[in-house]
Amino acid sequence: MDQKTRDDLLQLFQSKLNEAMTFYLETCTRCGVCTEACHVYASMGQVKYIAAYRAEIVRRLYKKYFKARGKVWPSVGEAKELTEMAVEELFEAAYSCTGCRRCMVFCPFGIDTQMIMSIAKLLLIGANAEPEILTLLADTSITKGKSFELFKEGFLGGIKRLEADVVQKWKMEAGETAIPVDVQGADLLYVALAGAHSIIPAAANWTLSFFEAVNFGAFVGDPTKTKLILDRIVNEAKRLNVKEVCICECGTAYRVMKQLAGKQPFKVTSITEVHARYLREGRIKLDKTKLNGAMTYHDPCQIARNGGVMDEPRYIIQYLTDDFREMTPDPKYNWCCGGGGGLVALGEDTLDFRMKSSRVKADQVTATGAAVLTTACENCHTQLSNLNDHYKMGVKVEFLSSMVADALLR
Ligand code: SF4
Ligand code: SF4
Repeated sequence: MDQKTRDDLLQLFQSKLNEAMTFYLETCTRCGVCTEACHVYASMGQVKYIAAYRAEIVRRLYKKYFKARGKVWPSVGEAKELTEMAVEELFEAAYSCTGCRRCMVFCPFGIDTQMIMSIAKLLLIGANAEPEILTLLADTSITKGKSFELFKEGFLGGIKRLEADVVQKWKMEAGETAIPVDVQGADLLYVALAGAHSIIPAAANWTLSFFEAVNFGAFVGDPTKTKLILDRIVNEAKRLNVKEVCICECGTAYRVMKQLAGKQPFKVTSITEVHARYLREGRIKLDKTKLNGAMTYHDPCQIARNGGVMDEPRYIIQYLTDDFREMTPDPKYNWCCGGGGGLVALGEDTLDFRMKSSRVKADQVTATGAAVLTTACENCHTQLSNLNDHYKMGVKVEFLSSMVADALLR
């Protein structure tokens, strides 16, 4: 690696060194408590998948270039040169970590390996070694935000086609718009994925966002692109003067909007929180007889452990079934599905790894004996469906919001 490339990468490294990151990089005592916490290590048993081992790859570069001892006497500080081989190690560490933060809740110091991996991801972008498809997808989202007028007609045409489904499924009141778009002063801006699979008509004065929720900038670990993609929705919410932005079933999009949008004149909620609220307020009612067999729920890491939404899905589920089987361990310590951090977005390329690294998740689901496995994140849904096929789990994988929509009494 030439000096100019190394210097540029070290500048990127430096840009991540805030107080919290410095604490994470300087604090690990190698106590080993996090060893069994990572689903990848628990499923595959390879040392390179222990959280502290992954972090050590970044930490050694930190010692080499940002600590006096590493600069003077590398072998003492276990410092390591930033070379092409180090970049390969960074890739292996970062793209086998889903950012689930299960290790963090076990670590006595709360060391956030996902944050440390964000340095690895940024260095990979700087070295042009990140998965190109994630950058392309992030760029497409940004382009859509900048020149939305070009996409608007196609978007509105797609909505018209979806409207027919909505009208067929739920009888609309006279004069009611099935899927309202661009409504000034709406109570709620609903940010869907590519298609709105969980629209509950008339539950609120709402409007559908022009933009999809998913944030590929966050998956690839690019802070600038993450912010640009996020800002599309923030600006739309401000333009329409909405009171609330509701993020559909996309865990990363929810966490990014909730934690990175800053102070805004609207509140941020997940669709699960909104449905729980509608039920509490009596604005919707559900038919409990729709479901056959026992049901379990997978807590998406970004919505539950990292977003704090754990009670709401359970509140909804009591209106869907009398036979709910909780997974063990409980939500805060729930096993990651193994699809986060951009791994599901990388599709077939990561399928073999995703299956091998998530054996513990498959075992956890099977142990409940449930026939229906529901969740609240698109990534999790895809990964759990893949696991279901791979491990022949014999469950039906469902979106919680779709189950609410299907059980709706109007
Ligand atoms: S639990 Fe925390 S302190 Fe212990 S090895 Fe893991 S990251 Fe380091
Ligand atoms: S954040 Fe999750 S995937 Fe990454 S090291 Fe920790 S437990 Fe493993």
